[in-house]
Amino acid sequence: MVCHSRRDFLRGNLAPDETDQMRPPGARGDFASLCDRCRKCTEACPEGIIVQGRGQRPSLDFSKGACTFCGDCARACPSGALLVELVAEWPWRAEIRPSCLSLQGIACRACEDACETRAIRFRLMTAGRAVPELDPERCTGCGACAFTCPAGAVAFRRDLPAAVGARE
Ligand code: SF4
Ligand code: SF4
Repeated sequence: MVCHSRRDFLRGNLAPDETDQMRPPGARGDFASLCDRCRKCTEACPEGIIVQGRGQRPSLDFSKGACTFCGDCARACPSGALLVELVAEWPWRAEIRPSCLSLQGIACRACEDACETRAIRFRLMTAGRAVPELDPERCTGCGACAFTCPAGAVAFRRDLPAAVGARE
């Protein structure tokens, strides 16, 4: 699910085709109009998780690894489309989809083990089953769970729409 505020659209902070794009941390609300596709952020990322997304502009790919929020991508950005001071305002949060193995009765706790902030805990059910529960308050949106999940069951939703376009 991708959410955005009506105010952001009216102020032009978010282009309609940008709300489902996971741009690198530090992306301004008007990222698409500022990014000139130079790929310096892609080259700077020590985790190698920045790929070319829609419009050949950078997006994160958690199938390649997790984000440490080091800010190297933002520091490397010459256009100002990424700002270091916005890195901490990363707006994406994980959510576990029904394709999760544990939700289908197959034992797996890969995401719990991967999550440094312990945002994912397993709740014991009957017959020895356990199902994951994700605390969005603890989740940093780092992507470690998505990288680890063997079923590709972790998706991300934009949880903090106002912060994305906070700096004009
Ligand atoms: S913050 Fe660091 S780890 Fe995350 S995408 Fe940018 S360069 Fe890569
Ligand atoms: S995105 Fe990171 S912090 Fe959030 S649940 Fe997954 S591993 Fe934990």
